[in-house]
Amino acid sequence: MGTFLETHGSELNERQLAAVSQTEGPVLVLAGAGSGKTRVLTYRIAHLIYDHYIPLDAILAMTFSNKAAREMHERVKHLLGDEGPARLPWISTFHSVCARILRLHGGRLGYTSDFAIYDDADQKSLMKDCMEKAGISDKEIAVDTILHQIGEWKNKGKFFDEVESLTRSSFEETCAKLYKTYTEEMKKVQAMDFDDLLLNTYRLFKEHPDVKNFYQDQWRYILIDEFQDTNELQYNLLREMMNSHRNICVVGDDDQSIYGWRGAKIENILEFDKEFKGAKVVKLEQNYRSTGNILKAATAIISKNQMRHEKTLWTNASDGQKIRLASLEDDREEAHFIVGEMKRLMEQGVSASEIAVLYRVNSLSRGFEEECLRYRIPYQIIGGFRFYERKEIKDILSYLKILLNPSDIMAFRRTINTPLRGIGATSVEKLEGLANISQNPIGVWISQWDAIPITGKARDGISQYRDIMAWGLSEVESRDSLVDLLIDLLKKTKYVEVLEKLGTEESKERVQNIEELLSAVQQFEENFREPDVTEGSLLRRKLRAFLEQVSLMSDIDGLYETAEKVTMMSLHAAKGLEFKVCFLAGMEEGLFPSARSYDSYEKTEEERRLCYVGMTRAKEKLYLTRAERRRVFGSINFCVASRFLKDVPMSAVETVREPAESSGSDYAWRPRIQKSAAQSQFANDFDFDQRVQSDEDFSFRKGERVVHPSFGEGIVQKAEFLGADECLSIAFARRGLKKVLSKFVTKL
Ligand code: ATP
Ligand code: MG
Repeated sequence: MGTFLETHGSELNERQLAAVSQTEGPVLVLAGAGSGKTRVLTYRIAHLIYDHYIPLDAILAMTFSNKAAREMHERVKHLLGDEGPARLPWISTFHSVCARILRLHGGRLGYTSDFAIYDDADQKSLMKDCMEKAGISDKEIAVDTILHQIGEWKNKGKFFDEVESLTRSSFEETCAKLYKTYTEEMKKVQAMDFDDLLLNTYRLFKEHPDVKNFYQDQWRYILIDEFQDTNELQYNLLREMMNSHRNICVVGDDDQSIYGWRGAKIENILEFDKEFKGAKVVKLEQNYRSTGNILKAATAIISKNQMRHEKTLWTNASDGQKIRLASLEDDREEAHFIVGEMKRLMEQGVSASEIAVLYRVNSLSRGFEEECLRYRIPYQIIGGFRFYERKEIKDILSYLKILLNPSDIMAFRRTINTPLRGIGATSVEKLEGLANISQNPIGVWISQWDAIPITGKARDGISQYRDIMAWGLSEVESRDSLVDLLIDLLKKTKYVEVLEKLGTEESKERVQNIEELLSAVQQFEENFREPDVTEGSLLRRKLRAFLEQVSLMSDIDGLYETAEKVTMMSLHAAKGLEFKVCFLAGMEEGLFPSARSYDSYEKTEEERRLCYVGMTRAKEKLYLTRAERRRVFGSINFCVASRFLKDVPMSAVETVREPAESSGSDYAWRPRIQKSAAQSQFANDFDFDQRVQSDEDFSFRKGERVVHPSFGEGIVQKAEFLGADECLSIAFARRGLKKVLSKFVTKL
């Protein structure tokens, strides 16, 4: 049997092969979508393992999301074959790698291995405490503004003690002070936020060369996918991680840089060869993913950007089918059209897992979801999935969190009076103050009371909580099963019992969500593999791993991902993936490109790159759809076609449009007057005036003063019917001219 490359080299083109076989020294692969960049990384890993006998632990591969990491993991596993090693190298995200390092060595920075990871909400809450302590009202400066400034410093690798000398205004001075207090508080409650994971690892490496050397010796080969979306801190961290051999391979595409708004620096990739002198630069030009028409259209879109490096991308594939453009009357028609097409394709034998609907904002998923339910099309929604942000789930997870890390103040506040135990804010404050004096973690401190130092109504409630804590903390040390702990915890806290007694629709739904959480925990436990932090009981190790997985779930990950389902997700989440059929929905000005990008040229170019990312996900069929009217929170937006549609070359597209009558559905607000055939579908805005109804039966008149629950007061400019509904154009004092359904407004 030959080497891996002898048997698999023919699956790569010449340039790919060159990038795979150049295992030593820095390598940069800068190339367009679908040209096999990720393929280069996966083959490189297999080549290192099989042909160079590199131990698994010596290889570190990183990418931008858990989902992308899993995807790469699968591809490598597949390549290594059934005979391959039982374990795989580290294939992960920056954040997970850092969390793993800090669980092992965080002690050097004063952290135990059970530290909590705080999300945005916890972060804000803790910052509010710090502001209160410092006597700064959030009316003076918004919490978000402060956190944003601190985030920028962190992103530049600046710790709080390094920023004081950098401040240039009194605002920055305030932020610098709060940065210090915040860092101290976070340490006290044993928590880190997302940026801290990167920053603390960076600091650990800088201040503790022995730890850095340990990892540098370990990781002899580093590989990074989607390098165009790394930020400054990740880049600096990477340089710390790398040993003197500099065996690093980064791949990316500047045209797919879509996280500028989160601080990603495109320069990291564009200037890589300056920084890493002698780097081998490989450009891949053949696209293996998409048909000629799809590639032609995507290239036409991206070539409109001014700030880019010209790239050649060609394909051997035939032109394939034309891209289908569909302009629908409204958002429901759009969902109906898309799901109708899905159904048709599935009847023709396309598997559901080969189909994706991509959109600019997650809120669009709802309409597609409803239609899929109606037509019994199996679907999954990736990202924007707020399961772990639901109240009941957060409540229960907080119990688990405080059992793992009894210093976690946010978890304490969430659990102390949940379900209601008659413990008010004053008592909670008092408890926190006393715990502070005792210098013990608050959970431990409470669990150890003999006599409760608080009198009055809250006393009984506190004693119940004390019993739960005392029980829970000792169970964590003695048990094995996480599911069992959770079930008993639900009984002890009476959480489900209280909900069941309420008996409302809402409480029933909450109970169902808790059941869902139990299955998620069960599934986690079945697949549990020992992490490298072996400290503590089995249950503690499970708890640590489970809570970390949940905390690091990003807005572009899925809860469960299963095969044989249509996938719906944001364009951001789709990066790196591919599907036989893709629908890009909501191709409308203001939505895509987003209205928020209008104020700067850079942002509009980023939107265009996002469109390029979206279109290049499709292998065989691409649909671009738009609605002429879209409902947003009770108001109707009349939408102009996205500028991107106008840039698609005519020769690569065909216009399709579902005739409104044939849909067979009963949309209450379909317009009575159909659009004239002469009206262009994409070039023109929806011409509202042509549809004005005669002046009959309106309950509101021009000039009348009205009030809308979210837009406030305004004056009616025009009234008309949309199907059965009356629609008003209103000039709102604070919000300008808007069209809203009359049922949402009241006369003044
Ligand atoms: P993106 O920029 O979207 O991340 P990419 O450059 O990472 O794309 P891959 O996902 O690696 O591209 O490859 C795109 C598709 O082309 C995959 O299905 C891959 O298996 C296939 N492919 C890549 N190179 C070859 C090749 N030499 N021969 C056959 N198929 C290939
Ligand atoms: Mg890729």
